[in-house]
Amino acid sequence: MSDSSVVTRIAPSPTGAMHIGTARTALFNWLYARHTGGKFLLRVEDTDRERSTEAAVQVIFDGLAWLGLEADETPVFQAARADRHVKAVDEMLARGSAYRDYMTPDELETERTNARAEGRVVRSPWRDHSPNDAPDRPFVVRLKAPIEGETVIDDQVKGRVVFQNKDLDDLILLRTDGSPTYNLAVVVDDHEMGVTHVIRGDDHLNNAARQTLIYQGLGWAPPVWAHLPLIHGPDGTKLSKRHGAQAVSEFADMGYLPEAMRNYLAKLGWGHGDDEIFSDEQAIGWFDIKDVVGAPARLDWAKLNHLNNHYIRQADPARLAGLVAAIHRSRDFPLHDGHLAQLAHVIPFVRDGAKTTLELADATVFALSRRPLAFTDKARELVVNDETRARLGRLRTALAAAPTWDVPTLENVNRGFAESEGVGMGKFGPALRAALSGGTPAPDLAGALVSLGKDESLARLDDALSLGG
Ligand code: GLU
Repeated sequence: MSDSSVVTRIAPSPTGAMHIGTARTALFNWLYARHTGGKFLLRVEDTDRERSTEAAVQVIFDGLAWLGLEADETPVFQAARADRHVKAVDEMLARGSAYRDYMTPDELETERTNARAEGRVVRSPWRDHSPNDAPDRPFVVRLKAPIEGETVIDDQVKGRVVFQNKDLDDLILLRTDGSPTYNLAVVVDDHEMGVTHVIRGDDHLNNAARQTLIYQGLGWAPPVWAHLPLIHGPDGTKLSKRHGAQAVSEFADMGYLPEAMRNYLAKLGWGHGDDEIFSDEQAIGWFDIKDVVGAPARLDWAKLNHLNNHYIRQADPARLAGLVAAIHRSRDFPLHDGHLAQLAHVIPFVRDGAKTTLELADATVFALSRRPLAFTDKARELVVNDETRARLGRLRTALAAAPTWDVPTLENVNRGFAESEGVGMGKFGPALRAALSGGTPAPDLAGALVSLGKDESLARLDDALSLGG
């Protein structure tokens, strides 16, 4: 499908963290915009001035940038648009679709009590007053919503959702201080940003009904709605702190790659047949908002780890080297000049088992450690007995004579050495590994030797051979 008139948006409220539910909503909006050749926009819903600090807004920018979901235009800030919101209400007053409500707090309280007793929503008597009837006292502006009939949301995910208008009260649009309310701001902003598809969490489904009435009051066409089910924890309950990470930054800190997150989040509520692993291009080609499932999606750590391992195995070693170096730095692990090149060299030998970049960093420690290595007791025992020491000495000679220093050659050298000694590899492999690593996790023999390079490998062997028993 190519419909370049599609405009989607993500409209996060800056709270100080970017929840992965918001990340998934952003991803689905981005995928749909890319799929249709449309635009993906960002609006910062910063009307809560206390929470919307510069740092909290930055968290949103950083989260989207990390996920690779950058908006196609400069972000819109909702709070800066209050004048536009108020102007829209002026238009509604002029059209007769909004009215000034002068109920005093006491009158409102009485009406609330009556409404509750009569099982109906609050209705202001000012709804039916002439606009010229204006007492000199504070007022709110309310939407003059229809009382009869129903409001239907034809939701792309939830299907047809019907609200009885008699159950929807006349929403406040402007408070007594003249400030605009949330639903009004969303409608005016979405309309003026040209948003055609509102794709968001289903905690906003009720707002869709209210917002539809505001659209009608303004004489505007509502957008296409698509409300996404929540993300649940592995146990099927609403995702919360006890399920572990919830914020995008936490997933980043735990060593997940953004492309793995995109692939994983795409699978939370959407999918393409049985495909587990797919590229952005494939997801963009396949994604349709109509295929999102209505049932809550469950976070599955094993699947996320599996995907992350896949992308770690695919990633450019130089890029992984940068990530791993940052992890080492954050752990105060000493890095030396040339560590990036060394990491990029080592990473291909150690990445197969890594589920996260933290594990990848662990797996590189053996190579970055400086001589002389600190040996674990177990590693020391492996190398200090006389028989092993003598054999390692002979192995050193064989290795030093290797014509080239690559995996196939060194595998041959090790095999040939085992034959010439008349023993299995088990008789010297663990000791060689202990000599090369001091007991920290290291890859298989040839991989460890190539990771370290010839000079360093032989020097570590020499160190081990001179260890006192
Ligand atoms: N600001 C709202 C939120 O963060 C989203 C509003 C919307 O998408 O319409 O939940």
